Amino acid sequence: MAEHTRFGPAGVPPMFKLMGASTSDVPKLLRAEDLDAFEYGAVQWGQKPQIKQENANLLGEEARKNDVRLSMHGSYYVNLAGKKEVVEASKRRLIAAATAADWMGAYVLVFHTGFYGRFEKDYAFKTCVEALKEVSAEMRSLNLKVKLGPESMGRKFQVGSLEEIITINQQVEATQLVLDWGHLHSRELGRFKKVEDFRVVVEKVEEELGTDALRSMHCHFSAIEFNSQGEKEHHALDEKRYGPDFKLLAEVIADFQMHPTMICESPVLDVDARKMKETLAQVLESRKQTIQ
Ligand SMILES: [Zn+2]
Repeated sequence: MAEHTRFGPAGVPPMFKLMGASTSDVPKLLRAEDLDAFEYGAVQWGQKPQIKQENANLLGEEARKNDVRLSMHGSYYVNLAGKKEVVEASKRRLIAAATAADWMGAYVLVFHTGFYGRFEKDYAFKTCVEALKEVSAEMRSLNLKVKLGPESMGRKFQVGSLEEIITINQQVEATQLVLDWGHLHSRELGRFKKVEDFRVVVEKVEEELGTDALRSMHCHFSAIEFNSQGEKEHHALDEKRYGPDFKLLAEVIADFQMHPTMICESPVLDVDARKMKETLAQVLESRKQTIQ
C-alpha cells in the first residue's frame, strides 16, 4: 500500500484516560476514531525505561494489529549543550528511551536537543552534534533500530532552529527529520501566514535533505501563542486568533506529495488530529475535481 499521511495524538487523549483505558488499549481506540499514529510520552523519564518490557511489547503488538504508527517523545530533561555531567546524563536518558522505543517498535524517538545557556551559540550547537554522534554510535552498537528525531524548537534560547535541525540530520547517522510547525511559527514570531511561507521551508528541506526525507517527515502541529522570546502555549485549532492555519500546510503536503506522520499537540489531542485529517482529505479531494 502506498504511504499516506498519518494523524494521531501526542500522548493519551484525556477522554481515553477518563474511560480508564490502559496504554495497550490506545491503538484500538485511535483506530475506532479513524486515526493511525500515536506518540507515546516518555517525557518525565530518567536514565532507565519507565515501562515494563512486556507492556511495551504489548503496545507494539496492538499498534501493528490496528495499523497505528508509533513514535516516542523522550525525556524533557535532556541538554546536550550543558556541562559534561549534564550531557552524560542526557545521553543515558536518550539511550533508555531508545531501548524502550525498540521494545514497542516506535520508528522515531523525538527529543529536545538542549539550551544554548551561557555558551556561544555555535559552540553549544557543535557540542550537541558531537554528543548525538556518540548516542547514535552507541545505539548502533546496542543494535537499537529507532531513529533519533531532534525536534525544531519554539523558544529562541533552545537549540533547534530549522537550519540546526537540518544540519543534525545531515551530520548524524540514523536520524529522522522532525518539524514542529507551531514551534517554527513561534520561534520566528509568526512566520506562517500564507501557503508560500510553508513552501519555502519545504523547498529548503528538499534541497538539503532530499525528496524522501521531505515526504516522510515526522511533524508536530497545533495552534500556538508566542511572545518576543517565542513559544508561550499550545492552543486548539478552533482558537482562530492563534496560527498557523493547518489548511495552508495541507496545501503544501498535497503539492509535494508528502506523507508525513502528523502528531497533534493541541489541548484536544485526538479531536484536532481528526480535524487535520479532514482538512487534508478536503484539499486532496478538491484537487481531484480540478484534474477531472
Ligand atoms: Zn517536543
